[in-house]
Amino acid sequence: MSSTNPPPPEHDDDLEKPVFSMRDLAFELEVTAAILRTLEIDQILYVVLSGVTSGEGLGFNRGLFMLVDYGQRALRTSMAIGPVHKADAHRIWEDMKAKELTLGALLTAYDKVKDDPTAHELTHHLGHLTIGMNELEQLAAQAVPVDATGTVPIQAMVARCLLAGEPMFSNTVQLACEESEDPFVFKNWGMVPLATPEHAVGVLVVDNAFSERVITIRENQLLIALANLTAIAVENGRLFARMRALAEVDGLTGVANRRTYDVSVQRMLTEARQTGRTLSLVIIDVDHFKQFNDRHGHLAGDDVLRVVASTLASNARKSDLVARYGGEEFAVLLPGTTLEQAAIVARKLVRAVEDAGDMPHGNVTISAGVACSLAGNLDATQLFEEADRAVYRAKHAGRNRVECAVVAS
Ligand code: GH3
Ligand code: MG
Ligand code: MG
Repeated sequence: MSSTNPPPPEHDDDLEKPVFSMRDLAFELEVTAAILRTLEIDQILYVVLSGVTSGEGLGFNRGLFMLVDYGQRALRTSMAIGPVHKADAHRIWEDMKAKELTLGALLTAYDKVKDDPTAHELTHHLGHLTIGMNELEQLAAQAVPVDATGTVPIQAMVARCLLAGEPMFSNTVQLACEESEDPFVFKNWGMVPLATPEHAVGVLVVDNAFSERVITIRENQLLIALANLTAIAVENGRLFARMRALAEVDGLTGVANRRTYDVSVQRMLTEARQTGRTLSLVIIDVDHFKQFNDRHGHLAGDDVLRVVASTLASNARKSDLVARYGGEEFAVLLPGTTLEQAAIVARKLVRAVEDAGDMPHGNVTISAGVACSLAGNLDATQLFEEADRAVYRAKHAGRNRVECAVVAS
């Protein structure tokens, strides 16, 4: 052994490169395992925030995730955990102690807390905190050095952290959250960027406003490791959400597909049974569509299907479900709607398609059949068959019209 080896450090925080303890590694592994168990972004964020704020974890007083919303071109509060004020800090701590919540229990508690408003208090307080991606440069210019003193808007430092792609820590600068209904500051804070090789994903902010404990280099490093992992997990979660959304829609028309229809009709019938409400179904079939295809070609036929779908969707309510049932047939589910009301809706849809201005080769018409299940008295097959029989009658009665299922009296 060389005699030039340095003496062992008295305190790991004295080192540039911190020495992690077995406890640190166990913590990182436990949080990593919990992150890998899910693809739900909210659950991923909850797991990491629970880990960094729990006493058994990194023990920070508060944690905040601001994630980039590429659709909205903004960085916004996605989730925050911890007390808003010192009095809450004590109450939450007592509460945790009383419930004997271990880190393991916390990491798996998301399903229990997700509907509990007290768990979302800090998220709610910071709900208005939004940074437009086009104002990042301007905000970052207002950032101050981390060894300065005084108070600076949190947006300025978050913008700097995201743009620079580097972690920042300060026990002298305070971060003001003025947008909150009840303004407060982050003190003894740290922030780390979340990024994948392709994207800036967001920023994780933590603080020790109440314990006033200064963040150590070891904690910095553990936070950075967690942030890198979270960035990848959030990107995977987003990819999964996109794939799931794609699997629910029809590729040609963008409305719900047959699978989504099947799942939705079962769910809506169960709700109708439980609430005693009605559920109506309108089945729609494009008239003489084979002839249209033969005359104008399949691609023009596809355009017709797109226009029909968008016309149905734009004339339906939010609670309704418009689906492509197959080929040139569509289904519209109308919860809480009687047969008579559904017939009115169906007539409106038939008129709207007939009047649609963007058909590729002049007017196209549809025929519709309406059926209704009262308090779920029909099952999905019976409801469909009744509506389908009504379509058949609409075809025979001359097309471009609505027929209703015959209700036994
Ligand atoms: P009716 O008025 O009685 O409903 O007559 P129709 O010609 O519409 O009915 P039929 O069932 O004979 O023809 C349906 C046509 O729909 C035949 C099929 O080629 C066409 N079709 C089904 N799916 C698609 C599609 O995705 N794109 C196109 N362009 N045509 C499709
Ligand atoms: Mg058909
Ligand atoms: Mg047809």
